[in-house]
This record gives sequence, C-alpha cells and structure tokens, in this order.
Amino acid sequence: MAEIKKLLIANRGEIALRIHRACHEMGIKTVAVHSTADSDAMHVRLADEAICIGPPSATESYLNIPNIISAAEISGADAIHPGYGFLSENAQFAEIVEAHGIIFVGPKPEHIRTMGDKIEAKRTAGALGLPLVPGSDGAISDLAEAKIIAAKAGYPVIIKAASGGGGRGMKVCTSEDQLETLMQQAGSEAKAAFGDATVYLEKYLGNPRHIEIQVFGDGNGNAVHLGERDCSLQRRHQKVLEEAPSPVLGEADRARIGGVCAKAMADMAYRGAGTIEFLWENGEFYFIEMNTRLQVEHPVTEMITGLDLVREQIRVAEGHGLSCTQDKIQFHGHAIECRINAEDPRTFAPSPGTVKQFHAPGGMHVRVDSGLYTGYKVPPYYDSMIAKLIVYGSTRERCLMRLRRALEEFVIEGMKTTIPLHQALLDDPEFQAGAYTIKWLEEWLAKQD
Ligand code: ADP
Repeated sequence: MAEIKKLLIANRGEIALRIHRACHEMGIKTVAVHSTADSDAMHVRLADEAICIGPPSATESYLNIPNIISAAEISGADAIHPGYGFLSENAQFAEIVEAHGIIFVGPKPEHIRTMGDKIEAKRTAGALGLPLVPGSDGAISDLAEAKIIAAKAGYPVIIKAASGGGGRGMKVCTSEDQLETLMQQAGSEAKAAFGDATVYLEKYLGNPRHIEIQVFGDGNGNAVHLGERDCSLQRRHQKVLEEAPSPVLGEADRARIGGVCAKAMADMAYRGAGTIEFLWENGEFYFIEMNTRLQVEHPVTEMITGLDLVREQIRVAEGHGLSCTQDKIQFHGHAIECRINAEDPRTFAPSPGTVKQFHAPGGMHVRVDSGLYTGYKVPPYYDSMIAKLIVYGSTRERCLMRLRRALEEFVIEGMKTTIPLHQALLDDPEFQAGAYTIKWLEEWLAKQD
C-alpha cells in the first residue's frame, strides 16, 4: 500500500479539473502542468502548484515526457494521472514514470502496450474469450491472402491501421477490385499518421451500434464491470453524445457481456480503469478495441452506479483494491452526456475565442464538467471540446426532459458551440425512441441542410 499525498495531473481542460476535484476530495494535493497557452486555465488556477512545461504545441508540452518527469520530481509528486488522450496510452511513459519511483495511475505498461496495438489487442481479446469481428488473424500485407480473407468475411470489408486511433486510418472496401489500391492507401496513410504502415482487415458491419463496457481491475486478478455506455451517436467516428444504459440492452444481455469482460480482465490481472469497445448488431457483440484509460464519457457510468471512477483509479493505484464486488454494483436510472465543442453547429468549423458570458446549468441531477469561465480565452491549439453536460433521470424519458431543460439554461457567449445541435437532436423522434446506429447521426445531419 502506498498512500498518494501529491498527484501531478499530466493533462489539461475539463479532465484535468475532474482529476483535481477527485484528489481534493481525497485530501490529495495537486500539481498542474501546463503549456504557455494554458497559464490561465481553471485547473491551473485551482491546483496547489502549477508548473509550465513548454510552449503551446502539445509535442513540446503535454507530450514532453522529460519535462513532465522533471515537474514531478521538482514538486515531489508521488503519482501521475495521465487523463485521456496525450500520454494516457503511451506504455513507455508509464514505464518511465514507474522507473522514477512514481505511481502511474493507470494500467500496467505491458497491458497498455498490448491493447495499443490493435492486432495484438484483437488476438488477446480472442484468447480471453471476447467475441471478435471476423477478419484477418493478424497483419495483412499480401494481396492474395487479403482477397481470400475478404471473400470469407464477405464484402464490404474495412482495412484498419494497427496503430490507428481517433477514428483515423480506416478504409471501407466494397469489392475485390478495390482491395489492392485501398490496402496501399491505408498503409501509406497509417505510416504518415502513426509511423506504422501495418494494417489488418475485418468485416465491415452494415449498421451496428457502438456499445462499450466499463471495466475495473485491481491488478491482482479481481475485476468487475460497471455496465455499458451506448456511444453510437458519432460524426466522422467521433462520439457526440453518450448514454447509459443503452436503449437496446436488457438486464440479461448486460450481465452476460459484462460478465465475459470482467472475467477477461480478471484473467489478465488488469489494473485500473478500462473500456472494452464493441460493435453490436442483431443482438451480437463484436470486439473492436480496448482503451486502457479513463474515457471522456465516464461520467454517465458514474451517474448510474454512484461510483467516482477517478477516486476508484487512485485507490487501485494506491493498492487498496476495488471498493466493491460485482454483487454490490447496481445500476439506477439513466444518464446522458452531451459533448459541447467550440464549433459551428452546422459546419463543425472550429470556433475558438474569448468567453464573453458563461452560465452553467444546475439543479438536481445536472453536472457540467468544464474549465470555462467568463473572460477565459479558449486556445486554438487543442481539442475543441469545451464542456460536457451530463444529466441523470430515473428513466430515459425523464433524463431527456431534464437534458432539454439544462441545454436551454446553458449560456456560452463569445464563440459558436454545438449546443444547438444537441437541442435539435433531442427534438428528433428517432433519437427520442433510442432508434439509432453509428450511421444515424451523419444521415440525420445531411437531412438538416
Ligand atoms: P479508433 O481507435 O480509431 O477509434 P475503432 O476501432 O474504435 O477505431 O473504430 C472507430 C469507429 O469506426 C467505430 O466506433 C465504428 O463507428 C467504426 N468501425 C470500426 N470498425 C468497424 C467495422 N468492422 N465495421 C463497421 N464500422 C466499424
């Protein structure tokens, strides 16, 4: 057992604030590290200490491992939380942190590495008994072999980059005569974007939902699942709105897939928070990838389970084990998260600027995770997400009513935001019925013009 007294937050924006809040509720001091563009950020102002680690460019600041480690040593932090994005899934970073005698609030480096390579991840998932999308067993470079596998899986197929992420590096191929060109394109694009040209191939599911399972392990062979999140509402493979539970899963389905995932995590002695992502079609789950970190959409799980996932991560990192066993975890009501971006709600063009007015909605069961405040200047260098609105209701219908009320109340002046997009979505009868798949939002957006 190693008590954490001071934790360095290796991130920015709302998630840095989220981690700071959990730490202070646990009596842990915080160290914010930031780029020169983020000197006025809310988490920097609230943290007990703040250290500038470089210029605006993320490569020179939030991805700058030597500077982050130096900041931890200078401040005497005994732990580092990487948040999501940036270094959160960098196995080498986790190793370096541990080599300096600092606690890494995250999984074991070898598990980060395995799951970061999508081919290895798929192989591991299969060996652990998770259902897979049919396709190549591993990397594919030989055209003749690709043709055989694609024919067996059935067209269309999708060519994916082994090192891909953020919805990039994927090519859908509808017939055999396109296969050669698309494989070459996917390979060279993957090389340019991720420095690795390795690609693999799997069946392209026609119209699935994206349903992911939140898992937690203690690192010693105990693991639980915290139910699912439905993240099917996507634009360009980026999640826009997430909900838990999924409108299409029943209690028995949840217990079955959740049980399979928890067992897999127990078998690999996984440590900390993780998310196992599946595509779901006609009642079947197909593993696509595992994220070895906290997810943006984790609050919807917190809302329906009553657990604080960051607190849980810190407890596990300290060696306390999981705070509850599977039989103690209960799911209550419904929660929805809207990702609010500083973007034009129709064209999605980035719209950074200075916040002229800010009023966050409140009231019962309404949560806003955001670093915004009146006068804050949203820097143009990073992700455009400026706030998350998370709302709970005892039923999905009540949750939708409350979400409508909360969105009405939200005031962000000085830039365009995607609040109007969420309001329009809420008015759509198909969305209200929960009848959507991963393709639905883009088709819906095309109809709005
Ligand atoms: P990334 O790591 O880039 O996010 P994922 O493997 O998680 O990549 O896939 C992102 C999204 O791409 C999924 O949510 C889904 O919308 C789509 N996708 C991925 N694989 C398939 C597939 N086999 N069939 C259909 N859609 C897919």
